Amino acid sequence: MIDLRSDTVTRPSQSMLAAMSAAEVGDDVWGDDPTVIRLQAALAERTGKEAGLFFPSGTQSNLAALMAHCARGDEYIVGQSAHTYKYEGGGAAVLGSIQPQPIENAPDGSLPLDKIAAAIKPIDNHFARTRLLALENTIGGKVLPADYVAKATQLARDRGLSTHLDGARVFNAAVASDKPVRDLCAPFDSVSVCFSKGLGAPVGSVLVGSKALIDVASRWRKVLGGGMRQSGLLAAACLYALDHHVDALAQDHDNAAYLAAGLAQIDGIDVQSHATNMVFAQIPEAHCAPLEAFLKERGILMQMLYASRFVTHRDVSRADIDTVIRAVKDYFAR
Ligand SMILES: *Cc1c(COP(=O)(O)O)cnc(C)c1O
Repeated sequence: MIDLRSDTVTRPSQSMLAAMSAAEVGDDVWGDDPTVIRLQAALAERTGKEAGLFFPSGTQSNLAALMAHCARGDEYIVGQSAHTYKYEGGGAAVLGSIQPQPIENAPDGSLPLDKIAAAIKPIDNHFARTRLLALENTIGGKVLPADYVAKATQLARDRGLSTHLDGARVFNAAVASDKPVRDLCAPFDSVSVCFSKGLGAPVGSVLVGSKALIDVASRWRKVLGGGMRQSGLLAAACLYALDHHVDALAQDHDNAAYLAAGLAQIDGIDVQSHATNMVFAQIPEAHCAPLEAFLKERGILMQMLYASRFVTHRDVSRADIDTVIRAVKDYFAR
């Protein structure tokens, strides 16, 4: 199967599995798994933060971060299309007693500064206490403009808010913009990074921030059921990815651009691609289900859930992309 549904579908390679089986482990709930400690320190160093904390998922890492920044009755400002608002089951409200204040994302994924400013509530018993600005980079495959991030986080700081980045794919953003990941993380108090996406690990996210914030998040991780035991096995996969898979993200980005160019030649579909590993194709509604079925018969999986999204990753080759372009052409030529 050529699986373009998401970059979460990558399978661990033989050498990643070898690194996992060779991992030295301890009990991470007691804080003595040496491989987890090494991963947390490595990512903290890479992102320029004091400390890191290993999580089973990005959803839990984001939620623990929100709960570390905001108390019951506090509020976070977030995009309508942000993962931390739209795709995490309402966890901040359900489990954190935190009120989301969503703002419509601009087409480039940013939250307009005037709308952020207008959403910050005065200190008054009528209102939830606005505590946090949460952004996402990449968002919908787009890299947030660096000058925008600088302005938005400055505005947040000026108004006494803390800042969180959902950096599930921040390494894609760093590679696409040819900047150290540390620069992209610098404006934020905390950043959540996924290893289970394009970086190709089977499981795992790391939250980074100040030592004080990570201590609070560590308590919430335990409460949320995310305290794991010999999780060095999983952390070893993430360390392997950090050492061997970051630069290769550029190949996924090239493949996405190549796929977008191929699909753009086909009449009837309108293609949008951004600098990273996602291609969105506007396909007439009537064609969505039949095209999905047609491709599936040819061993190609894609998802029609958020428009028609094709996601490239390390388990998809340039030759696979040629196969996909040919299959979509064949469908529209019938
Ligand atoms: C995947 C993803 C997450 C976390 O997802 P999990 O499946 O819980 O690991 C968070 N934010 C964004 C933007 C993501 O793409």
